[in-house]
Amino acid sequence: LSDRLSGIFDKLTGRGALSENDVNEAMREIRRALIEADVALPVVRSFTDKVRNRAVGAEVVKSITPGQMVVKIVHDQLVEMLGGDSVGGGIDLNAPAPVAIMMVGLQGSGKTTTTSKIARRLTQRDKRKVLMASLDTRRPAAQEQLKVLGEQNGVDTLPIIEGQGPVEIAKRAMTAARLGGYDVVMLDTAGRIHIDEPLMVEMAEVKAAANPHEILLVADALTGQDAVNLAQSFDERVGITGIALTRMDGDGRGGAALSMQAVTGKPVKLIGTGEKSDALEDFYPKRIADRILGMGDIVSLVEKAAEAIDAEKAAKMAARMQKGHFDLDDLAEQLRQMEKMGGMSGMMGMLPGVGKMKKQIEAANIDDKVFKRQVAIISSMTKQERSKPDILKASRKKRIAAGSGVDVAEVNKLLKMHRQMADMMKMMGKKKGMLGKLMGGL
Ligand code: GDP
Ligand code: MG
Repeated sequence: LSDRLSGIFDKLTGRGALSENDVNEAMREIRRALIEADVALPVVRSFTDKVRNRAVGAEVVKSITPGQMVVKIVHDQLVEMLGGDSVGGGIDLNAPAPVAIMMVGLQGSGKTTTTSKIARRLTQRDKRKVLMASLDTRRPAAQEQLKVLGEQNGVDTLPIIEGQGPVEIAKRAMTAARLGGYDVVMLDTAGRIHIDEPLMVEMAEVKAAANPHEILLVADALTGQDAVNLAQSFDERVGITGIALTRMDGDGRGGAALSMQAVTGKPVKLIGTGEKSDALEDFYPKRIADRILGMGDIVSLVEKAAEAIDAEKAAKMAARMQKGHFDLDDLAEQLRQMEKMGGMSGMMGMLPGVGKMKKQIEAANIDDKVFKRQVAIISSMTKQERSKPDILKASRKKRIAAGSGVDVAEVNKLLKMHRQMADMMKMMGKKKGMLGKLMGGL
């Protein structure tokens, strides 16, 4: 996505408010990014509609490009839909003990693994007494799998009795928990390969028998277009209270989080990040939004800078400077390149976590207009003046100031900056290697 967004940055520059065209252009790329991140199509559509409404006509904040503005709005909207500033992870135990937590989902989605991860966390971190019960009577050894995980993590499991059905096991688990003084009962249900009627009936029956306080839908982060149907079915037929997204350690970008949250309005509470029992994390909307958009990516900044700098020009300039030449033409070239990269603030804006520095930059007056004015000053000079700044005396400075619409003081400031830079370049040119580093870093 970063590449494409850079493309948008280039196309959209220098307008006051976002036009419908700006937004539509950017939105095509955003839509593609969302689909690549496995967000379901109907959700992509409703999401882009929302963003379009919010974006068209929005003021472009000074010192960022319209393209960056659209991305900011997309990102904000995404975070909002994923839960805003709240952090998922809170399993609600605010009910009379034993509190039942029912895990539902398709076969292989990670229900059993996630059941034991949550049980382990509640036991070790939250000091709760937890009983786990497997209601999976369909797959041979499914109950045994949970028992083994329980033993590994120091969590009790309900003794296995052959021949009992899911509803019977659920009732027995609740009774055992009551008698045994447990705080929490985790009910690990059986899945199916596809959503089908018998599964939904079974889930509804278990729910009626155990009256769970939380019903968590466990889904694979790689669930693509099916996410909407999956979440909708379970929510309508069983009524979920939250979502646990597994396999977030894989390549998936987690678009299913957006799909499922959008259609159910239920929060993603937890994410699974590995097969081991401690690979369970809270859900941070901002992190997932970044992942879905592929943002906060330093690589994109570097790519953008590399694009803006004509490598050949840079090499030529480096060679000249190594010999001690750095005239005002060279400075103008540097300033233009800085401007191409969106200026200081544009570059800083692409780095994650520099929001605070923005104020400092603005205070230091390094905004894009300064680059433009400085280039204008240099353009008002003659060729001779640019290559030999020493000849610039009062009368010439006055002429240049008038020609570029600035005060003489500003011309002086530019000349001083040039002198300092030229001195620095000379010094660095002597220390071999330093100059190359400097040029590479620009
Ligand atoms: P169930 O059929 O829904 O109970 O699924 P299981 O809990 O048995 O998990 C199926 C497979 O997915 C197992 O091999 C798990 O180790 C694996 N698995 C579950 N959660 C995660 C996860 O967050 N990351 C990874 N990499 N694997 C997971
Ligand atoms: Mg299972």
